[in-house]
Amino acid sequence: MRALAPEGRARDLKSIFETGSSHARLEREENKLIGAVDIGGTKIAVGMVDDDGRVLARRECPTDPERGYANALANIREMLRATAAAANTQISGIGIGSTGPLFALTGEFGDVNFFPNWKGENPVNDLANIFQVKAAMENDGDAAALGEAGWGAGRNKQRLMYVTLGTGIGTGFIADGQLYRGVDASHPEVGHHLIDPSGPPCVCGFRGCWESMAAGPAMADWLKNEAPANYPHREDLTAKRICELARAGDAWAKRAVDRETYYLGLGLANLVTIFAPDAIVLGGSIMKSADLFLDGIRKIIHESCRLVPSDRTELTLASLGEDSNLIGAARVWHHRFAGEGGPRGH
Ligand SMILES: [Zn+2]
Repeated sequence: MRALAPEGRARDLKSIFETGSSHARLEREENKLIGAVDIGGTKIAVGMVDDDGRVLARRECPTDPERGYANALANIREMLRATAAAANTQISGIGIGSTGPLFALTGEFGDVNFFPNWKGENPVNDLANIFQVKAAMENDGDAAALGEAGWGAGRNKQRLMYVTLGTGIGTGFIADGQLYRGVDASHPEVGHHLIDPSGPPCVCGFRGCWESMAAGPAMADWLKNEAPANYPHREDLTAKRICELARAGDAWAKRAVDRETYYLGLGLANLVTIFAPDAIVLGGSIMKSADLFLDGIRKIIHESCRLVPSDRTELTLASLGEDSNLIGAARVWHHRFAGEGGPRGH
């Protein structure tokens, strides 16, 4: 089992860069840099990523979807310029990972829950025009999967499932180096597969999908609903806080962790049975407390997946650290354009 990289080499290199050492300047001259853009519901992060997957400079700002797409595009443009200047480089290409749904091959946003008024806007065309480089966009789960497959824990895995467990459950599936796409190049929503038909409703249409049962908010909701009225930790309950309380011996938090382990295990066991992948790479904020869950998850997979060689599916933690979405966004560019005269394709 790999440990999560606590800060990641990207951060190390960033600090080297800010001091302007000759080593960093040498790296800079040898690398072509991709402008990476990670568009989430609450924030947009931008960085310069070299062709070894290292983040050389980064900026972020609130998404502020209600201020409109043009405002967000202007912020992205300025952050790309600022990070390129900080890395003293020209942008060679632009890769975007965004919360979806989106149309990866045309570059348009679909009906995104977080910014419904951006439907039909096309950041790929807009940024390609502004910077006069090739650009590409994928769902952020797919982008992070590409990052881990190219530069992280998923290297050299032929069939790789990436799962990010946080406020939602995002996934990406990569087979033989290529992203799996559904009809019309759609992104399969593995995080919304059905776990318990008696569970709570979700925007996906199901009641009791995996995300509604096992994402961070589900963990907190369960504890709030089940714990007695005089439970002393009701305020500000989050998955992170519950994990802390469980470590401190709180009996209700431990029950919440056991329940979370059960539903994470069920969902992952389904993936093992359906895809029989070489590896499942686990990322996201909940996996910062992976040690609380992994033994239980492995037990469920072992007991539930008897028709596939489940012991051959490696369950491992993401290795790209806090910037994994940004690094994945850069990898989107490599995945789309490698072999068209871009940098080496790994
Ligand atoms: Zn759902």
